[in-house]
Amino acid sequence: MKIEYEDTFVKVAGLIGGPDYVRVARALLNNENATDEEIASATGLKIKTVRKALYDLFGRSLITGVRVRDPKRGWFVYRWKAQRDQTDGFIQTQKKKILNRLKQRLEYEDAHEFYHCGTPTCVTRTFEESMESFFKCPTCQKPLNRVDNTELRAALRWKIKQLEEDINK
Ligand SMILES: [Zn+2]
Repeated sequence: MKIEYEDTFVKVAGLIGGPDYVRVARALLNNENATDEEIASATGLKIKTVRKALYDLFGRSLITGVRVRDPKRGWFVYRWKAQRDQTDGFIQTQKKKILNRLKQRLEYEDAHEFYHCGTPTCVTRTFEESMESFFKCPTCQKPLNRVDNTELRAALRWKIKQLEEDINK
């Protein structure tokens, strides 16, 4: 049977490395225990590109590699196999990382007041930074006004709640 698309394993590979990884991942699902060369010829990708993707996926425990002797040529080759049971764990780990980043951002937003001059190209400053410049934008000299981050904080809280529910289900 040919597995064509959008298997979770293929999707995760795509998220990590883009279209080349998608091709390698599909080839792996279609040919279990394939070698680098077999994957290269199945995908039409350069052997260097295939190896880079394979070692990367291997490093993330998404595939396994077994070293075997090539009977025809005598040297060792690796036979690769997708570890599809690892895919969910990988996704969970990524979600937890995102959750942590969102929590840190919310903490930062909760802990600071922000000021901006209204010029789109100028950066937002914290209260402490704004004090130092006497509430005048050091870049464009316009006065710095308080930025209301209530909506942003609400959006962050909502996203955090969603992710937590998703991770814990
Ligand atoms: Zn400014």
